[in-house]
Amino acid sequence: MNLIIMGPQGSGKGTQADLLSERMGFYHIESGKLLRELAQRDSEVYELIYKKGELYPDQGTLNLIAQDLKVNNSLKKRKVFDGFPRTKSQYSILKKWLSKINQRIDLVVFINISEQETVKRLSARRTCVKCGTVYNLITNPPSNPGRCKCGGRLVQRADDKEETIKKRLSLFKRETKPLISEIEKDGILIEIDGERPIEEIFLDIKNAIEKIKNE
Ligand SMILES: [Zn+2]
Repeated sequence: MNLIIMGPQGSGKGTQADLLSERMGFYHIESGKLLRELAQRDSEVYELIYKKGELYPDQGTLNLIAQDLKVNNSLKKRKVFDGFPRTKSQYSILKKWLSKINQRIDLVVFINISEQETVKRLSARRTCVKCGTVYNLITNPPSNPGRCKCGGRLVQRADDKEETIKKRLSLFKRETKPLISEIEKDGILIEIDGERPIEEIFLDIKNAIEKIKNE
């Protein structure tokens, strides 16, 4: 079973993907993490993404994902895609690749929160100066106030300011709207109200998965 989890920044989709992995055995594919790891190994990629601010090619990202699944022997496991696909063209190359290995996307979970809520939650983000782990004082607080689990100090990054958040959000909407209508056509979309407790959201996702399994 393949699931895509989507939502604006701050929607808590990463948290839900982690729960799917812990409680239901899903392999969590975090494309952002794979890209960050690649950039650490490859200075050209680092230059492209973090200095020039360009996007990594779609096919390249898919290759990274495919490689990660192979290395971790997870190609045939239940998977949750987080961060990819984000656009219509990424969605289409993912579908193509899955059909080649006799798989398909079974469900797309879109966790939605209002713009106001996005701003509120993202202003609550705190990043570890030492290891880069991101916490959220509302949705994912550190167990030790002001400290990462690695011991590092937690700070608010400059781009977690309201203006920047709003800019990123409008980019997300621009990219995602056409993708969402494409997924609706495929009949595999469920939209979930993300402004509720984590456990309630998880239950909705779990129920949607059970429903597919029983079809
Ligand atoms: Zn840390």
